[in-house]
Amino acid sequence: MSLQHAAQALKKFFGYDRFRPLQAEIIQAVYDRRDTLVLMPTGGGKSVCYQIPAVTQDGTAIVVSPLIALMKDQVEGLSANGIPAAFINSSLDADQIRRIEDAALKGHIKILYVSPEKLVSQSFQPLLKRLKINLFAIDEAHCISSWGHDFRPEYTQLKFLKEQYPEVPIIALTATADKLTRKDILTQLNLDNPAVFIASFDRPNINLTVAPGQKRFEQILSFLKERPNQAGIIYCLSRKGCEGLAEKLLQRGFKAAYYHADMPQAKRSKTQEDFINDRVNIVCATIAFGMGIDKSNVRFVVHYNLPRNMEGYYQEIGRAGRDGLSASALLFFSYADVMSYRDMFEQSEASAEQKALKIAKLERMFQFAEALVCRRKTVLNYFGESYDSSCGNCDVCKNPPKQFDGTVAVQKALSAITRTEEKVGMTLLVDILRGSSRREIFENNYHQIKTYGAGKEYTYDDWMYLLLQMMHLGLVEIAYDDHHRMRVTETGKKVLFEGKKVPLAMPQAKEKVDARAPKTVEKSQAQINREELFERLSQLRKLVAQKQGVPPYLVFSDATLEAMADQRPYTDDAMKNISGVGERKLQLFGDAFIAEIRKFMIEKTNEGQRLVGATTLVSFDLYKNGKSIEEIASERNIQARTVLNHLAEMYEMGESIDIRQWLSAEASDMICGALPLFEEPYQMRSIFEHFNEKFTFDQIRLAIAEYRKASNTAKVKS
Ligand code: ADP
Ligand code: ZN
Repeated sequence: MSLQHAAQALKKFFGYDRFRPLQAEIIQAVYDRRDTLVLMPTGGGKSVCYQIPAVTQDGTAIVVSPLIALMKDQVEGLSANGIPAAFINSSLDADQIRRIEDAALKGHIKILYVSPEKLVSQSFQPLLKRLKINLFAIDEAHCISSWGHDFRPEYTQLKFLKEQYPEVPIIALTATADKLTRKDILTQLNLDNPAVFIASFDRPNINLTVAPGQKRFEQILSFLKERPNQAGIIYCLSRKGCEGLAEKLLQRGFKAAYYHADMPQAKRSKTQEDFINDRVNIVCATIAFGMGIDKSNVRFVVHYNLPRNMEGYYQEIGRAGRDGLSASALLFFSYADVMSYRDMFEQSEASAEQKALKIAKLERMFQFAEALVCRRKTVLNYFGESYDSSCGNCDVCKNPPKQFDGTVAVQKALSAITRTEEKVGMTLLVDILRGSSRREIFENNYHQIKTYGAGKEYTYDDWMYLLLQMMHLGLVEIAYDDHHRMRVTETGKKVLFEGKKVPLAMPQAKEKVDARAPKTVEKSQAQINREELFERLSQLRKLVAQKQGVPPYLVFSDATLEAMADQRPYTDDAMKNISGVGERKLQLFGDAFIAEIRKFMIEKTNEGQRLVGATTLVSFDLYKNGKSIEEIASERNIQARTVLNHLAEMYEMGESIDIRQWLSAEASDMICGALPLFEEPYQMRSIFEHFNEKFTFDQIRLAIAEYRKASNTAKVKS
């Protein structure tokens, strides 16, 4: 097998023109029958790495996958692409399993997904022995490691594969990259001199933004307003938070739902199904939601609360933009969240060591949210990948913070902390600085200290932002064990008493929010068209999906619809060139999508727009409605010859038009017979003169169409 076969299969089955980074190298390793370990982020395109070797080689590939929902999804996706696949797991009864086994033995199944339980069970061994297996793929291979969070004991029994089938290559795939897990996978599976591929964990299409946690709901509303009808997840910390937010969004007319672990199973499944099938756009969920969802067109992930660590954050935002189109990750940061986590960790039953680890990880998360350097750089460095440049697709890169001399502001805050004898928390402190008339202030006589009302030049939110920086710089600290009161540190004292200078980042919370909403530049007509057509195509996709009983993103991905909206393929040939349209999907869905695109183009032309190819379609549409060439010409106020030319073009593209009514077989034979004497693009006048004006231009044009169509067909056949 060669990579050329692989590339052909990629186009034929998946409709893709090129491999993504590392895919070709990985496939080559599998062809070389090497054991392989693949570490790639979510959305990187791991599946193709085993699916292409599976379909291009003799025999069947066995894929071990831990989640029933994902197996079903993968099999449906493969079937939609014309690849014979099936799964065997506990959701099937004995009869169904037997039928699949029979089909596999007859060689009718190229890719067979099995749960690890099933694969290691005694009942499955006879089938395994009789099958011609070309490959074992272990998906979500990190489940093998007891260090990880998804440990699955059955995975540790997979050793037997190498013992009993030493000739069959194993490919292990995961999106969890840490070294311990990696080592566990290699040793547990007993891989033989494996080829290890580690892709970059960067997801450049995901915009990373951190916003201050004040007025979250308003910020979310403006965020959603910029993203009408898009699918996304909003992660909340608590069950109540999910329900409350979903309720508020519903009241505002959004298609929202909630999801958390305390809901009855049936309700949870419903939310999940509604989301997958585009019936619900927004799910407000705890982190229980997301595992087992392969939906490729999740356009945003919002963290309403701070995630508890970077691992969680990156895994959760990774669910956005799997299709490679731009997506957004918005995180709200508030110190209150940090405090609740701390309380939660402190009060948990965990050992002191575990608590310390959790707090250290929280600290890193907190630093990420606060840091004023490129977010992507921080994340990737955290995961051990060096990334030196600035990404240009995060809030810091897009809107670099401006520095100012914050010494006076810091002194005001520190002085207020000292004068209140280090007894106040952040909120009260800010209220004092801003001269609020809150009851506690008067009860404690804080309105009489010198710094009361000394910080009115900053808003409440500004102060929060400045205080966070002060904390980060080690000027103040928080007594977690003592009502979260603020204290001045030794470094802080140097600023307060010795006037040490402190540069701070300018508060620009308000600007930040505005910056997130794309500036309202006038949209070009082309862009308006693209968006409108995309919307119409996604409606069609939903309908088609419903009929097929599969999720819409398995019919076509957003990326594919976007390419269609952009290029407007209105012939089979053009449709075939769209990325994501393989042979099977062209056959199944091509006509419906082409029809919608044509309808759109005709409508736009009738509204007075000029779209490439559309005038041809309008003439053709009228012709199909029974109008004669002359009628079309007079209705459209164009020449009859132009109409005939339109019809000739459509005929060339494969539309059935009876051209014999205008060109006899005899005339056609004569003209076509002479065409090899001329070259494309044909000069009609030379042909006209060649025949001494015996044929009209119209006849010549039609003959050319016939000739071109015949040679096109010949090309396709050869
Ligand atoms: P992973 O399993 O690594 O999360 P998938 O295998 O689900 O990723 O692939 C993510 C998306 O990228 C899918 O929609 C898939 O069809 C698409 N994809 C994979 N390979 C390519 C490619 N070479 N060109 C275009 N799209 C691809
Ligand atoms: Zn950046």
